[in-house]
Amino acid sequence: MTTSTDNVRSLIREHGDNLAIVVNHSGGKDSQRMLGFLREQFPMVKTYVVMADTGFEHVKPVSAEDWARQQVASYGLELTVVRNPNKTYLEMVERRGMFPSASTRQCTSDLKRGPIQKFVRHLSEKVIINCTGIRAGESAARSKQNPWKRDEGMSKAGRLVFNWMPIFEESLEDVLDWHHSNHQPLHPIYAPEYHNDGTTGGYLRRFSCRVCIFSTDADIRRIYEHDREAFDLVSGLEQRMNFTMKSGKSLFQIISNTPSGNEKQYGSEEVTYCNAA
Ligand code: SF4
Repeated sequence: MTTSTDNVRSLIREHGDNLAIVVNHSGGKDSQRMLGFLREQFPMVKTYVVMADTGFEHVKPVSAEDWARQQVASYGLELTVVRNPNKTYLEMVERRGMFPSASTRQCTSDLKRGPIQKFVRHLSEKVIINCTGIRAGESAARSKQNPWKRDEGMSKAGRLVFNWMPIFEESLEDVLDWHHSNHQPLHPIYAPEYHNDGTTGGYLRRFSCRVCIFSTDADIRRIYEHDREAFDLVSGLEQRMNFTMKSGKSLFQIISNTPSGNEKQYGSEEVTYCNAA
């Protein structure tokens, strides 16, 4: 059976220096695991690492950008950060007067996918393997995705683009084990049980925007306790727009109904979130 890795090897043989790998890196655990896999499998292939900054990325104790840059530098590579020049996440929400939803996810398309596609269109290589760290185990919806697909919309004007999810089959345990055995630290925002180096103080299991439309009620409670500034920014938008981020419940209503300090209340991995997160 031909695997996606075989497909990439075949394309490399065919196109040589005219092929490049693009790694979508959020600063999160899956991005770094994917980067490690790609450098191990394809050390000689031109590799670009790009981060799409929504303007609402984690800022403490170390910013998502600085963290991603350090992680990428451990492989001797540079990080390119791209942004939508016209809006940040919070500006987008305020201008539209509503939050994105699972079915109309402008945040992903306008703030992540769009800037990365623009980056890809400006590369000199004509064959691009565009990689994201999506895993089947993250959600039922994700498990149905095709981990290897030609991007018809981007394959134009002599350019050929494939979208690949190189760690699609890996479990959460696989990813964490890889980090631990390769001494690749995790951003401190991650919950303590994800670390094996004694890092404490983290409170989330996903590396998304500081408050994400897919944050669970338990996540929101923890954000309220650990990143009050982000909570207040989104809660303030809810009040000004008279529109709640979660259907029918304001952030304050959510935290008043969600107990604090219950470990089982951590947000589960069983969610669907941004393609580039
Ligand atoms: S992390 Fe969440 S809020 Fe941010 S762009 Fe992705 S889906 Fe939207």
